[in-house]
Amino acid sequence: MSNGRSVRLWAPTARARYGAGYGKTAALRVNGASRAAKAGAIGLLLRSVGTDASRLPHTGAMRYQEGVPRIPAVALSTVDADLLHRKLGKGETVRVRMNLSCKSLPDAESANVVGEIPGREKPDEIVLLGAHLDSWDLGTGAVDDAAGCAHVIEAARLIGARPTKPRRTLRVVLYANEEFGLRGGRQYVIEHANELQKHVAAFESDSGSGRVWGLQWNAGPGAERLFRGLVASLAVTPLEEKKGGDGGADISTLKASGIPLIGLRCDASRYFDVHHTAGDVLEEVKDPELRTGVAATAALAWALADAAEPLARIPEEEREEKARKR
Ligand SMILES: [Zn+2]
Repeated sequence: MSNGRSVRLWAPTARARYGAGYGKTAALRVNGASRAAKAGAIGLLLRSVGTDASRLPHTGAMRYQEGVPRIPAVALSTVDADLLHRKLGKGETVRVRMNLSCKSLPDAESANVVGEIPGREKPDEIVLLGAHLDSWDLGTGAVDDAAGCAHVIEAARLIGARPTKPRRTLRVVLYANEEFGLRGGRQYVIEHANELQKHVAAFESDSGSGRVWGLQWNAGPGAERLFRGLVASLAVTPLEEKKGGDGGADISTLKASGIPLIGLRCDASRYFDVHHTAGDVLEEVKDPELRTGVAATAALAWALADAAEPLARIPEEEREEKARKR
């Protein structure tokens, strides 16, 4: 709003199995404040990037552009935003008082948590299983991303309990600070620079606790054979495999090294009802669905770590890192 003039844009987030709706509207949250400031706005009220009809607002990462005034920006719950939209549509005058208590604090130290099961034949070759430990502070982060942590920890525990270990080392990485700038993922690449060539694959689970619907993968020529065989062999149906992408936010930092990347795709049709809200709590995680994620993660982890030959790496020309929305 500026001098009584308001720029209105009504952009609800569409419900979709894999979060395609979120992909379209998250950019409004990330870039909205600076875009609005450039148009003369003194504040931004954003319709929460979420698929629910509740009074819980959704938070998330946003960025201020250099050289543009840093105006306050808030997300309204979808219900309140729609009410505001209707009032403005009727030509009513709406006055809003913004009273924000949030602030940016200096960096503090945190850590990635790393554990591994050494391989029986090639212990220096690594298959990474990743998820992120941090969450936005409104809820407890049960869905985003404690569910992913559960997938990778339980898969590793099941494999570790077998009498025979896989050929290669399985490394579980619980990343610090994914939500606020991918700092854990970026630091991992720095700390482990001298062994990235020995990473033969990286997997990430960061799509919630819903029933597994598929895998997204990116690797060099010939890799489709492994993924097609794997999804066909899993009793979790229907399972799909799709080539492309970077596996997930945390492991996207490994793409520049050509490491084959795999992302677990869970049914996300309800994920954005609670994503980044006070509603992201353990009650949202349902046991039978969570187990499908563990099963798929364990089967995939074993297949990658015990394969006779590792997957071909992502070709050089496909390794550039794209900006991701969180
Ligand atoms: Zn997440």
